[in-house]
Order: sequence, then structure tokens, then C-alpha cells
Amino acid sequence: MAGFLDDVNRMLDRAIGLLDLPPGLAEEIRAADAVIKVAFPVKIRGEYRVIEGWRATHSEWRLPVKGGLRFAPTVDEDEVEALAALMTYKCAVVDVPFGGSKGGLRIDPREFTEEELENITRRFAAALAKRGFLSPSLNVPAPDMGTGEREMAWIATTYLALNPSDVDAIACVTGKPVDMGGIAGRTEATGRGVQYGLQAALADAGEAQRLGGLSAGLDGKTVVVQGLGNVGYHAAKFLSEEDGARVVAIVERDGAVVDEAGLDVGAVRAHIGEHGGVAGLPGYVEDGLALLEHECDILLPAALEGQITAENAPRIRAKLVAEAANGPVTADADEILRQRGIGVVPDFYLNAGGVTVSYFEWTQNLSHMTYGRMEKRLLAQRAEEAARAIGVDPTIVSGADEISLVRSGLHDTMFTAYERITEVRDADDRIDDLRTAAFVLALRKIAKWHEQYAL
Ligand code: NAD
Repeated sequence: MAGFLDDVNRMLDRAIGLLDLPPGLAEEIRAADAVIKVAFPVKIRGEYRVIEGWRATHSEWRLPVKGGLRFAPTVDEDEVEALAALMTYKCAVVDVPFGGSKGGLRIDPREFTEEELENITRRFAAALAKRGFLSPSLNVPAPDMGTGEREMAWIATTYLALNPSDVDAIACVTGKPVDMGGIAGRTEATGRGVQYGLQAALADAGEAQRLGGLSAGLDGKTVVVQGLGNVGYHAAKFLSEEDGARVVAIVERDGAVVDEAGLDVGAVRAHIGEHGGVAGLPGYVEDGLALLEHECDILLPAALEGQITAENAPRIRAKLVAEAANGPVTADADEILRQRGIGVVPDFYLNAGGVTVSYFEWTQNLSHMTYGRMEKRLLAQRAEEAARAIGVDPTIVSGADEISLVRSGLHDTMFTAYERITEVRDADDRIDDLRTAAFVLALRKIAKWHEQYAL
């Protein structure tokens, strides 16, 4: 069976075939720059357990390299290399000036107590820092599957303890809690970016029609979500609460819940938090995977890679597949969906909200001052004066607080990138899908940098 990295490269190759890259450059772009494996013993309930972890850097021509840390039993070298490569393409598509990286520990975090997880995370952070794979200027991790702001705080304080004189130490990781140098809106950022990306895709009737024959706008669209974790929950919440979409099914590890009238995303999330899964909810069905084939407008896989394969792709009844997770559609399935006229919004564009807001957090950390601090009061005063002058109630205007600035920057990033991707697609009649167009866009930028780097 082809691995994840092989799948990413096969889809990338479609775009490489359309470009006139100098000899050897495609191989140079595809290859990871470095991969480390670490193994360290941790004493768990009186016994030693050897924990294995990896971190791959895909492209060091733009430092620091950036990408999440995943804690999951599936983590291995192939997976982190594939995810690191996707990070490079993602950063290029949304113009975030980082190279790609990814890492993870092969553990099931649910097996450990909080104290044990803290110990494991701190050991991993120290192992990465010692080798230059954790550093504000070289390699800056972020949350991914199985990790969140709690783990990022442990990583930041471990790095700080090891590097007390590094004035930028807190920028060694993003996705931190707001009171520890994090930025408002980072936790929701990937789901928020998915919402903005889908808004951009469906803004125009002609474009929506191209994407599997949809009508414009999200209002009334039916959505099936796989994985109600950080990304899936926020995306489903915003699409249903703010854009009028109807979440008709949520697929989790232990099955799925279905309600054609529309599920209450917050209530499902609360149930999972309390009971560890969706079993017990009204509309529960045990065969979750079958629900990926449920009829809907938008199928939103937000859990893990390799979910839509050559096996189930012929039976997918969504009009559009919105890749909120990384790599949810295999290369074979991608071909089948294309042939069947099902639209795909590719992962390395659609889930770029996380790295975009991480970039805002990192630059804020380096500036040592929060966005808007100097001008917020002044701008609010000016806006109030302007409102009074034109006879409008001044209490309806406000200064630019951090979350508004973050959302505004993210919105602009997602809409601008969508426009750039479709410009590439529409300028070349050999390209008819967003994934190939996004790869071409990314490759053109990356190729320029690689040519310089190779000198
Ligand atoms: P998470 O750990 O918060 O959530 C994952 C969810 O998927 C959990 O609810 C889990 O129970 C569920 N899940 C796991 N295996 C499943 C299965 N086999 N079937 C159905 N559900 C399953 O992870 P996340 O951070 O939301 O990441 C999800 C995906 O989004 C990953 O592919 C990740 O790489 C990608 N991503 C995450 C971020 C981020 O900022 N967190 C950014 C970009 C991309």
C-alpha cells in the first residue's frame, strides 16, 4: 500500500509536470531536509516506557520551519515527512514566510495521566531543543492532533528553562495559552480558516457551480463532518452558527450521529467531552465510516489522513470534499473524485488558518508587544468622534481588539489565497482542479527560493 508521503508526491507530480523546472529541482523540492528520531525512557507507574518521536524538516530555505506536533499511535517517519512537506506548500500558498516541518510522538495520549503527559512532553521538548529542532529562529512547533495549548505551554517553559538568556525564547512554539504569550484566536484559527476558505469558494455562483455543482453561499448547505476535535468542532460550529449550514452527521472514532434537521454541534462536543464518544446520543449509528458516503453538499473530513480511498471514493455522495484534515483523500481517491466531478478544496489551502495565526503569534512574540496596544484607544476615540459627527450612536463603534485583528488578517489571507489559486487554474486550460492549481502556485514561489538556496 502506498504511504502518505508517496500520495502527497503523486499529487504534487501532476503540478510539477506542468512546470518547466530546472533539472533536479523537483527532486530537491520533494525531499525532506532532515528527519530525526528520538527515543527516551519515561517512568510510568513504576515501569520504564520507551517513548518514540520524530521531527522532520522539509524545507529550510525559509527559517524558521513550522508545523505541528502530533500525539497519536499512528505517528511514524512517513507520516511526519508527508505532513512536513504539506506544511511547506501550505506556507507558500498563504504567503507565510516559513519552511515546513512536522513532528510527533507515537503515543495514545488518552492512556496517560496529565502528570505523565507533562513529563513526556517536556522530555520530548528537551530532546528536540538539544538538536536544534525546537528554537524560535530555526524550528517552531504548534498544536496538531492530540495536542493543544496545554502541551505548547509545557514546551515553551521547557525551552525557556534551557535557554534563560534567549530574549525570544517564548517564540519557540505557537498555539500557547493567551496569558503565556499566545494570541487570541489561535485555538479556533484552523476551523475559522476552513469557514473563510469555504466562504471564498462559494462566494461566486459560477465558482460554486464548478465545485461539484453547488449553488452560491453556505446558507442551507448540508455538511457531514468527520472528527469533532479542534479543527472539526470549530469549523462545524462556525459554519452552522454563523453561515446557516446544516451539520447533518458527525463521524467520530466510536460511530456517528445523524440528524437531517441539523445537529447541535456544541451539544455533541459536550457529550464527547463527558463520555469519550458519540455513543448514547440520539441518532447514533455504530458504523461511522459508512456515513462518509452520506448524501450531503459538503463532506468535511477533519480527523486524519487516508479516509477517502479508492475503495470508498466511488460511493461518496457529497458534491464537495473540504479537506480540513491533512491528507484525508488519497491520490487514487483524488483521481476518482475528479473524474466523478466532485469538487475538492485541498488541505494545504483549506487548513492554513492555523499556521497563518501562528505566524501572527510568532511575530507578536518577537515584537514583545501585543497587536493594537499602542493605537487601540486612539482608534476607538477617533471612531467615536466620527460616529458622533455623522449622528451615529458612538457606542456601536469599537477599537481594534486582538481577536478582531486576527480574524481580519486571517479572512484576508484565505480570500486572497483563494483568488490566487483560481487565477492559476483559470490561466491554464490543462488545470481543472484546485489542488493542482494550488500546487502550481506554491511551486512557483518555492522554486525561486530553492534556486537561491542551492547556490
Ligand atoms: P484533534 O486531536 O483535536 O481532533 C481529532 C478528532 O478526530 C478527535 O475528536 C478524534 O476523536 C477524532 N478522530 C480520530 N480518529 C478518528 C477516526 N478514525 N474517525 C473519526 N474520528 C476520529 O486534532 P485536530 O488538531 O483537530 O486535527 C485534525 C486534523 O486537522 C489533522 O489532520 C491535523 O493534522 C489537521 N490540522 C490541524 C491543525 C490545528 O491547528 N490543530 C492545523 C492544520 C491541520
